[in-house]
Amino acid sequence: QVDSAVQPEAADIPAESLREQYEHLQDEVRRHRTAYYQNDAPEVSDAEYDALYRRLEDVEALHPEIVSNDSPTQEVGGEVSTAFAPVTHLARMYSLDDLFSIEELRAWYEKTSASIEAIAPGTAEQGIRWLVEVKIDGLAVNLLYRDGRLVRAATRGDGTTGEDVTHNVMTIQDIPQQLSGSGWPAEMEVRGEIFMPSAHFRAFNEQRVEEGLAPFANPRNSAAGSLRQKDPEETAKRPLSMFVHGLGAHTGLSAESQHETYQLLAEWGLPTSPYTRIVDSLEGSEGILQFIEDNGAQRHGLVHEIDGIVIKVDSFALQRALGHTSRVPRWSAAYKYPPEEVHTRLLDIRVNV
Ligand code: NAD
Repeated sequence: QVDSAVQPEAADIPAESLREQYEHLQDEVRRHRTAYYQNDAPEVSDAEYDALYRRLEDVEALHPEIVSNDSPTQEVGGEVSTAFAPVTHLARMYSLDDLFSIEELRAWYEKTSASIEAIAPGTAEQGIRWLVEVKIDGLAVNLLYRDGRLVRAATRGDGTTGEDVTHNVMTIQDIPQQLSGSGWPAEMEVRGEIFMPSAHFRAFNEQRVEEGLAPFANPRNSAAGSLRQKDPEETAKRPLSMFVHGLGAHTGLSAESQHETYQLLAEWGLPTSPYTRIVDSLEGSEGILQFIEDNGAQRHGLVHEIDGIVIKVDSFALQRALGHTSRVPRWSAAYKYPPEEVHTRLLDIRVNV
């Protein structure tokens, strides 16, 4: 359970006690990260974890003097298990800043638009192009293609070093081992999300129960547990899919924007998401808020589960100009849907998802 006693919000608590509580809060976040990323077996719901993490951020905002460099808020979350060989990504992989309400989204949108206007005056007036996508509830992988051949695949890990899952990824039908067409860069890191399609997840979990095995809590854990098998033959039996959502290092690519890149990747045979839209405003029938509403309404009707919406500045020139923090890009953020309480038929218990 999340330790709700840890609430050092008050500005006037003694320094010693504050530090103790701060460290305790950090330890709690780290413990849940290990359960989630290393063991694929979270002990609390994502919403509970998010609340704990947000509390840590709030304490740090209130007491900047105590922030330590190794705080979970300064790092990309995943850990690298010794069960897999470590792989250093050519370019760092990042997480995303979370926005938990429409007010937070509005503030992020306005702040980012103002930064873009400062970088390139007149852009906001012409209309900034944003790419909105559903946030796939799976796990991130980095695929390295050399001369069109898939040579290595790794999990995100801590963003710098991931776990080598090449042989496991090679068993996933959606992921081409050889790119089709021509014109691909000599070297290219493709980033995407591995997931277990919802329809397959239900059947897969039911079968596990029949076999006397513990069911997975949700499709995300099921995908992570299935990909991170020691034996690739075991992964091959699991119904896994992938959609790409970005690029890492590459030696030249003719695209100048995120959406053009997706078009190229699709031509080369990589699986791209059908759930994306180019928009130029927050409001309106074609705006970001409408995309959030549309996908929220059909949240469980998509091929995979989603836990939010990702908003990206489409232009690569603007992405480069906005840059990154140590943990997240400044040109993208994730709006998270409020948690739902559902009744699972299979487990016959009430769980938060
Ligand atoms: P995140 O999941 O909030 O966002 C970053 C990730 O989103 C990216 O790395 C990428 O893999 C993924 N993503 C999915 N669709 C995408 C798209 N269309 N475009 C770009 N990226 C996309 O951040 P995180 O650091 O990976 O994980 C933190 C989240 O994991 C928490 O918010 C929580 O929900 C969950 N978590 C839960 C527990 C627990 O105990 N329940 C513990 C740790 C983390």
